[in-house]
Amino acid sequence: MEKLSKRVALVTGANKGIGIEIARQLGQAGARVLLAARDAGRGRAAAQLLQNEGLDVHPMVLDVTDPASVAAAAAAIAAQYGRLDILVNNAGINVAGDGAPSSTPVDVVRRVFETNFFGALSVTQALLPLLRQSTAGRIVNMSSTLGSLAGNADKTSPYFAARLIGYNASKAALNMLTVQLVGELGDSPIVVNSVAPGYVRTDLTGNQGYLSAAEGAAIPVKFALQSSAEPHGKFLDAEGEIAW
Ligand code: NDP
Repeated sequence: MEKLSKRVALVTGANKGIGIEIARQLGQAGARVLLAARDAGRGRAAAQLLQNEGLDVHPMVLDVTDPASVAAAAAAIAAQYGRLDILVNNAGINVAGDGAPSSTPVDVVRRVFETNFFGALSVTQALLPLLRQSTAGRIVNMSSTLGSLAGNADKTSPYFAARLIGYNASKAALNMLTVQLVGELGDSPIVVNSVAPGYVRTDLTGNQGYLSAAEGAAIPVKFALQSSAEPHGKFLDAEGEIAW
């Protein structure tokens, strides 16, 4: 087992979009980054790009919807490092056909949940024992303002009209994971937060948005690297706290 003094970070869905930028920024901050991707080739290419920049980034195959893949990644981290300091549950999808609750096929909603909620839950469960081995474990769940129940319920909010039952509900469920973990972890030094990166130009948004992927990554990276025990159990964006 390698005795590393630097932090060991795992970022899911890190071969492109906000994920690769999180990996880059964590690497620039001096972490060893396990760049997780469901496709081995895409993961290797992304890790190579960051290695060429002199960063300590290593590819790891991880399909968050595949229990065997999740178990294999956890076993590999346990064998090599015996701990994990930072987990960023970034992998996420939207699915064509997602829309209003009255008409969206249940199967579409299920597919979104499979990645955005069950994927994050499964990865977190597998990696919690390793995060417990860290002196200052950090979990960052990549949520969205679209997952805010308060925003969805407020007729004056821009999110009121964004009716995507699968995506929005999956992020609300992810937020519940954050809150429930905080309760379960009790006095553990592990800090857990949900973050919303803003409206970011990536494949997920059809390259629409106000922010570059690097700008969107700055929010999760800030909370992945926070040295203090607070904020903890919060839903955060660039401005501060978001109402659940
Ligand atoms: P992208 O579509 O650019 O990237 C999504 C990443 O997730 C890709 O690497 C993709 O891999 C990966 N992924 C999808 N399914 C799986 C899976 N089963 N296992 C492992 N990895 C998987 O999207 P973004 O970068 O925009 O999104 C990143 C996160 O940020 C998501 O959780 C998203 O919901 C969230 N977010 C994004 C916002 C935005 O404005 N862009 C706003 C709010 C939240 P592959 O290349 O193989 O498909």
